[in-house]
Amino acid sequence: MSGVRLIDMHVHSDNSPDGNHSPMYICEHAVKNGLRAIAVTDHCEIDKFFEQKYNSIIFHSYFECVKARNAFEGQLLVLVGLEIGQPLYNQALSDKIVSSKPYDFILGSVHTPKGQTLDIKEIEYDKLDVYKFMQDYFLELADIAKWDGCDALAHLTCPMRRIQGKYNIDFDYSKISDVTDYLLETMIKNKKALEINTSGLRQDVRRTMPDENIIKRYRELGGKLITIGSDSHSAYDVGADIETGMALAKKCGFDEVTFYVNREAMQIEI
Ligand SMILES: [Zn+2]
Ligand SMILES: [Zn+2]
Repeated sequence: MSGVRLIDMHVHSDNSPDGNHSPMYICEHAVKNGLRAIAVTDHCEIDKFFEQKYNSIIFHSYFECVKARNAFEGQLLVLVGLEIGQPLYNQALSDKIVSSKPYDFILGSVHTPKGQTLDIKEIEYDKLDVYKFMQDYFLELADIAKWDGCDALAHLTCPMRRIQGKYNIDFDYSKISDVTDYLLETMIKNKKALEINTSGLRQDVRRTMPDENIIKRYRELGGKLITIGSDSHSAYDVGADIETGMALAKKCGFDEVTFYVNREAMQIEI
């Protein structure tokens, strides 16, 4: 494994409401951290698009990333992306956004599940049936996997960070294995990459999203596309644990990881 090959496919700049640093500053740190490429994937929450003025957010993100890409040419490949949350809430709008600019990479994600008013981080998991919740969550992700507008699904098991972390609830994945398989098969059929999100390694839960068992299962079912992202919201975290994510991909049977240019998958040897 070589440091020159490190690619972080999930990075937020201060254009995201919860981000802290400009694309330029992030790129400086990415170079310092020995990265070869980063994808800036600022948030675009479709259910809150008008209310939270995402139009302006994604406009600024795009142009600042192009500026950074030009400034860092030859030093760092800056891929311009988006993380589209709840894309099917208004698919016509999501389609319009992803085709409005020549994006390199689009992540699909769910932060506010269908039928919920709260963000995944704020849901009170001790007051609901976590198995039913995760099944519904996976089915919602499977629908997003069928959407042409995204290339990869972000942090597939995001609610587990709270379920197993904060709420300390024992979760037996075997109880929802049919729905998990359906999600992974739908991703494979629709050529969607599985993201190994390393942000959990920096938090209390100390595990990747998804866990090793799901990454292995994606491989067993024929999955070939793996992206690795830190989901950093600070320049100081860009590239964090990407090597750990690569080692995990290797352990789960992958010889290559994926990055995207012009929305086309490129494989790079681990
Ligand atoms: Zn996210
Ligand atoms: Zn993110």
